[in-house]
This record gives sequence, structure tokens and C-alpha cells, in this order.
Amino acid sequence: MNYFLTEDQQMIKDLAAKIAREKIEPVAAHFDETGEFPWEIVKLLAQADLFRVFIPEEYDGLGGGIVEMCLVVEELSKACGGIALAYAASGLGTIPIILFGSEELKKQYLPRLAAGEILGAFALTEPEAGSDAAAVKTRAVPDGDSFVINGTKQWITNGGEAFIYTVIALTDPSRGPRGASAVLVEKGTPGFEFGKKEDKMGIRGSATRELIFTDCRVPKTNLLGREGAGFLVAMKTFDQSRPGVASQAVGIAQGALDKAVAYSQERKQFGKPISSFQGLQFMLADMATQVEAARALTFQAARTIDAGAKNVAKISAMAKVFASDTAMRVTTDAVQVFGGYGYMKEYPVEKMMRDAKITQIYEGTNQIQREVIALQLIKESLQKKD
Ligand SMILES: Cc1cc2nc3c(=O)[nH]c(=O)nc-3n(C[C@H](O)[C@H](O)[C@H](O)COP(=O)(O)OP(=O)(O)OC[C@H]3O[C@@H](n4cnc5c(N)ncnc54)[C@H](O)[C@@H]3O)c2cc1C
Repeated sequence: MNYFLTEDQQMIKDLAAKIAREKIEPVAAHFDETGEFPWEIVKLLAQADLFRVFIPEEYDGLGGGIVEMCLVVEELSKACGGIALAYAASGLGTIPIILFGSEELKKQYLPRLAAGEILGAFALTEPEAGSDAAAVKTRAVPDGDSFVINGTKQWITNGGEAFIYTVIALTDPSRGPRGASAVLVEKGTPGFEFGKKEDKMGIRGSATRELIFTDCRVPKTNLLGREGAGFLVAMKTFDQSRPGVASQAVGIAQGALDKAVAYSQERKQFGKPISSFQGLQFMLADMATQVEAARALTFQAARTIDAGAKNVAKISAMAKVFASDTAMRVTTDAVQVFGGYGYMKEYPVEKMMRDAKITQIYEGTNQIQREVIALQLIKESLQKKD
């Protein structure tokens, strides 16, 4: 289907697809098995200028937006959802700098992120603060020209591998959620250490670690937005990054569908390719229809953001919910199409099913996304009555 991409967007998509096909697909099982971080692929993506696509031109980017980021994430995810996440999570760490960074911070970090010389990460979650993000306990106590950070962040993607971290911490606990701020912290800052790397069900090529802050001092100039606006920074960042999760889901689903269609023509039972059985044909048709619908909604969300729409929370959440639920269904069905072989690690679809699951959980679970959508619906309905 034609998504009315510009010539530049089509080039970005084709380039990402070529890297995915030629460089990522052959090593996807290796990174899934070992859990190593795919630095060699990150370097290839950097050489291909793919980290530049969503960064403004004045900071050495190519001036694209969320559509461009989504195009890359989808193509990479077709080959490996885990490796694609090293790229997507760096995007998640870059967006708050683009949206809320001072001119100085933008000049300091965006050109290096655009070159893929460093990776970014975003740290909100804590052991006691998952969906209830307002329950964060990490403190960033103002002290002269610095903030002194103490606390622990949990399950941070690109943790240990990224160089620059957006950390949401309380600068004034007496103000509750309005007392949180977003602060940039560089890897190597004294008092900033990493916990163990998590052993995960899927997306095993991505690094997930604890961040541990002990009297970690960062300059006040590292603040993103104003003091007290930490949750605003987080929510506005997620509004823009959730289509990226949706693209990861669409890519994983499309990858599984492609494998299922090919396998159904190779595998023979009852003397015929299994693709000749209507029971399977209908499954494949439903899978393809769901993937196409998920992609359309994801591009709708990305284009709405890039067009500068003010309130994108609902469309962004819708794309994330729909695409991730689709990825879970489609990858499960792909395993079914492969039968017993699909359950074996020798074939790629069981990994895709494991990789798909996370898209329903992170950047706000799908239950939380549905709350976001419903609250916005109610708000819009009340506005109409006024
Ligand atoms: C692999 C991985 C990578 C991650 N990467 C990052 C990262 O880079 N940065 C970061 O900050 N975080 C990251 N996270 C954290 C992730 O965003 C959280 O796991 C997620 O927000 C859910 O929080 P929780 O796991 O504590 O679940 P909980 O909040 O404990 O939820 C448990 C269950 O209860 C449901 N639930 C909770 N509250 C409600 C409610 N009000 N209504 C209905 N249902 C509800 C949830 O939907 C879920 O099903 C990552 C997590 C994982 C697993």
C-alpha cells in the first residue's frame, strides 16, 4: 500500500529495509540468544545517517520528524524488535532534548546523537513507580548551582550503553507531582552507576538496566523545561514517542506475517501446501488486514504530531494500543501457521511472539493507554457541551 511518502522518506525507508534485511536478520537470533548489545549494528545505522532523520537540521539532523523515525523503527523491527529498540530508545531519550532542551543543551548533545556517536535513554520507572509514575521517589535536591540526585531507576532501556539520560526526579517533594523535574545526566558522572542487566523474555538484543544515583551532582543548567515540569516533559515526550512503539509493533507483526505467508507455501500436508487450506488463508487474510490497519493508524498519529497538532495524546495512545495488540495477535497466529515448528527456536516466529509482548507493556501499559483515550474522549465531549 502506498503511504504517500516523499522521495526522501522513501529513501530512508529503503535504506533501513536494506540494513534490516542484509545486516540485522542474519544476526537477530544471535543477539536474542546471547543478550549482547548490538553495537556493530548501531554503528552501521550511524554510518547510514539514520540517527539524523528526526533531528532538526540546525543540530546536524536531516530535519524530519516522527514519521521518519517511525519508518526506520518499522523496517528494523521487521528483522529484529530487540535490535530496533536500541535505535528507538535513543529516540525516546532524544525527544525531550529537542522539545525542552535549552539552546546550550541542544548544541551540546543533539549533534552527537544525530551522528549516532552517543545513544540516549529516558528514565522514569522505579521499583514502586510503574503505571503510577507520580509515585517516583528519586530526589534531585537543589544545592547552589547543582542538583544532587539520589535514588534508583528500574528497567531503563539502553541503560549502561547510552551516554545521556533524561531522569525524572523530585526537586520539591512537598509539591507532589508538580515537584518533579527532568534533568539530563551523563554516563560517567560521579555517583551514577548501573545495576545488573535484566534477563528478559524478548527484545533480548536491547539492554535493560537499573540506574543507581548516590549523591550524583549535575549542574542546574541540565534541567529540561522548568523546575517542577518533570511530568509535563515525560507526558509530552511519550505523546511523541508512542508512535515509535507502535512502529516497532507493526514491524514485528509484518515480519511475522511475511514469514508465515512464505512458510505456508513451502509446508505440505495432505499432499498440498498448507496455504491451499481455507482455514489458513482466512488467518493470513486477517493478519494482513490487522497489520495494514495498525500501520495506517500509526502513520496518522505520526503525521498529526509532525503537523504540529496541539493535543496528540489520544491519537498517539490509540496507535500504541492498536498496533501492539495487533502485534501480539499476529505473531501468535504466525506461530500457529508454523505449527510445531513455530514453537521451536530454530524458526524465527517464536522470537517475534516474545518480542511483541513488550509493546503492550512499556511506555505505559495498554490499560493505561485506554485510560488516556477514555479521559480525552470525556474531555472532548464536555468541551462540546460548553
Ligand atoms: C523491557 C522493559 C523496558 C523498559 N524500558 C523503560 C525505559 O526505558 N524507561 C522507563 O522509564 N521505563 C521503562 N520500562 C518500564 C515500563 O514503562 C513499565 O514497566 C510500565 O509502565 C508498567 O509499569 P509496571 O511494570 O510497574 O506495572 P504496574 O504499574 O505494576 O502494572 C501491573 C498491571 O496493573 C495494570 N494497572 C496498573 N494501574 C492500572 C490502572 N490505573 N488501571 C488499570 N490497570 C492498571 C497494568 O496495566 C498492568 O497490567 C521498561 C519496562 C520493561 C519491562
